[in-house]
Amino acid sequence: MSAAATHATSGLQVRDLTVTYPGRPPVEAVRGVSLEIARGEIVALLGPSGCGKSSLLSAVVGVAPPSAGEIRWDGEDLTRVPVHRRGFGMVFQDGQLFPHRTVAGNVAFGLEMARVPRAERDARVAGLLETVGLAGLGERAVSELSGGQRQRVALARSLAPSPRLLALDEPLSSLDADLRARLGEEVRQILRATGTTGLLVTHDAEEASAIADRVLRMADGRLV
Ligand code: ADP
Ligand code: MG
Repeated sequence: MSAAATHATSGLQVRDLTVTYPGRPPVEAVRGVSLEIARGEIVALLGPSGCGKSSLLSAVVGVAPPSAGEIRWDGEDLTRVPVHRRGFGMVFQDGQLFPHRTVAGNVAFGLEMARVPRAERDARVAGLLETVGLAGLGERAVSELSGGQRQRVALARSLAPSPRLLALDEPLSSLDADLRARLGEEVRQILRATGTTGLLVTHDAEEASAIADRVLRMADGRLV
C-alpha cells in the first residue's frame, strides 16, 4: 500500500492552504492550513475577526484562488476546478438573497441553473421549505421576512442543488442570541437529515458548538 493510500480519503482534505492578498506588504490571510472533514461530519473553525476564516472558506469553495496548497474531495484534486463544478455550496452571514425573487424563487435558483424540470423543481422547493420550517411561505417577498426566516431561505437555497459540502460563513451572527442558539441546533439537524458535510466558520463559540461535531480554533491565519 502506498503512503497516500494509508490516509483517509473520504470527504474534504485541505493541505497547506495559503491565501495571500497582493499589496505592500502582501497580506497572508491564511498560512498553511491543513484539515480533513469526513463525509457527513460538521466542523467549525472558531476564531476572532480578521484571523482568515472567510479567506479560507472562499478558497475551499473556489470563489477565490489560494496562493498555495491543495483542496481535495475523496482524494480528487479540486484546487483548480471552478466553483460551479466543485459541488460545494455556501451560506453567507447576511444571506445575500435575491431581493426581487420570492422565497420559492430564491430556493429554486440553483435548480433553474441546473435546468431541473419544472415539476421536479417545484416539488424539491416545497420539500426544502418544509425542511427549514417555512412551509407555505413560498410566495412571500423576501423583504417581508424576519432575519431568522431570511437565513432559513439562504440555507434552503444553498441545499437545493444537493451540495456534497456546505460552507457556512457566520450564518447566524446577524441574529439575536436566543434565535442563534435555536436555529443553530436546527441547522445541525438539517445538515444531518440531508447527509451534508459542513464547514462552518464563526467568531461565536456558541454558534460553533450548536452546529458542529468538532470545533477547531483559528488565530492569525493558522489552526491553533
Ligand atoms: P475573518 O473572516 O476571520 O474576519 P478574513 O479572511 O476576512 O478574516 O480576513 C483575513 C485578513 O485578510 C484580514 O487582515 C483582512 O483585512 C485581509 N483581507 C481580507 N480580504 C481581503 C482582500 N480582498 N484584500 C486584501 N486583504 C484582505
Ligand atoms: Mg469573515
